[in-house]
This record gives sequence, structure tokens and C-alpha cells, in this order.
Amino acid sequence: SRQFFVGGNWKMNGTTASNEALIETLNGAEIPEDVDVVVAPPAIYLESVRKALSPRIAVSAQNCYHAQSGAFTGELAPAMLADLGITWTLQGHSERREYFHESSEFVAKKTKFAIEHGIKVIACIGEKLAEREDGTTFDVCAAQLAPIAEALSAEQWADVVIAYEPVWAIGTGKVATPDQAQEVHAYIRAWLAENVSAEVAEATRIIYGGSVNGKNCNELAGQPDIDGFLVGGASLKPEFVNIIAARA
Ligand code: 13P
Repeated sequence: SRQFFVGGNWKMNGTTASNEALIETLNGAEIPEDVDVVVAPPAIYLESVRKALSPRIAVSAQNCYHAQSGAFTGELAPAMLADLGITWTLQGHSERREYFHESSEFVAKKTKFAIEHGIKVIACIGEKLAEREDGTTFDVCAAQLAPIAEALSAEQWADVVIAYEPVWAIGTGKVATPDQAQEVHAYIRAWLAENVSAEVAEATRIIYGGSVNGKNCNELAGQPDIDGFLVGGASLKPEFVNIIAARA
């Protein structure tokens, strides 16, 4: 069975002082043995967070580039992450797709490169409100997944977690209902079975993101194809600890 996975995406938030307070909470928390926990601070804080945080919790970048060094102003290499003990990166978050014009092909290229260089990837997909209303949610998710599936070998999927984050649910307080989320997670798993393999579909964690909090996490966590969460706002608060224990 798939190990529960809870990520905290801090986005562009925090200060040295607020990070220290949050780390103190996380280091003091009782984390169930059978949960993977990962936090993704802003790049400038990756090193200090990694140093202060319990080794029980992994640290993730929010993005990295598909080269190991060179003239790529503003970018981070997987080698630099590895150098600091950072073991994960997000790729393709909807905010990067929207504000920084990242295409699904670019996301796939960076995903493959990161994995080839020892950094695991939380690959984010999800439809916008208009797409859901048009009935194209499944098509949008499939189109975002396809370049990733083309880029990766079957073995490389072991280093991927898929985050399904409907854009209309991110930061809005409008969480997907457990049925709405389960429906898309099941579709994504069926898509993997069809387009990658039955083994990869069975083994890959598909986590939900979008207005997850300490109150709504338990019912979502009870759905058969929801293998965890990618949490934004609530990952900056003590209630993140409750979300980590959502399945306990
Ligand atoms: P919120 O939990 O703030 O809705 O953000 C979700 C998200 O985008 C996590 O990557």
C-alpha cells in the first residue's frame, strides 16, 4: 500500500523568525511513523531550514532548472539542492504555470532532469475553474501528465508524487469535496495504468492540494485514491501537524 505523504508548500512566505517558530512546532510534533513529511520553503531559506529541522522531515525546493550550472540567472540546479541535503522539488505548481508561463513540456523536462540528478519531484497538475465548468477537467489533467509520462522511464516514477491541485481550490477556502477529489484522483490513476503501467499506477502517490486544513483533511484522507496532501496556507500554522496525522 502507498505511504501517506504530506507536503507543506510555504510559497513566498516567511522570515527567519517565523521559520524558527514553525520549525520548533514541527520538531516538537509527534509524526506517525507511516507518513512522509516534506516542507518547501522559499529558496533563500532552504539551507537554514534544512539545518534546523529534524531529519525526520524532508525539505523540498519550490522549483529547479534543467541544468547543473551555467549562465541561467535566477535559477537553481539540482546539484545545489543535493549539496544542501534538499531531496525534493516541486515542479509545475499552478502559480508557476500561470505567472511564469511554464508549459507542461518545460515542467516535464525539469522533472526528468531533477530525477536524473537525485532530486525527487512533486509534480503539480490541476484544472482552472472555467475548465471544470466546461467539463474538461480530465482532459486538462491528461494533457499536463502526458509530457511527464513521455519523459520518464518506468523506474523514474518511483521518485514522483503527483499533486492534484484544482486551481479554483487554491487559496480560496473552496476545498474540493471528497467525492470531487476522489473522482479526479481515480481518473489520474486510471490514466497512469493506461499510459504508463499498472504497477506505476498502483504505486504512485497522488496527493490533493487546495484549501486543505485541519478540519477537512480527515474525510479527504479517507478516500481510496487520496494518498496525502500538498498544503499551502495551513502549512504555515500549527494545524499542519493535524494534517500530517489526518489518516491516523
Ligand atoms: P492552499 O492550501 O493555501 O489552498 O494552497 C494549496 C497549494 O497551492 C499547495 O501547493
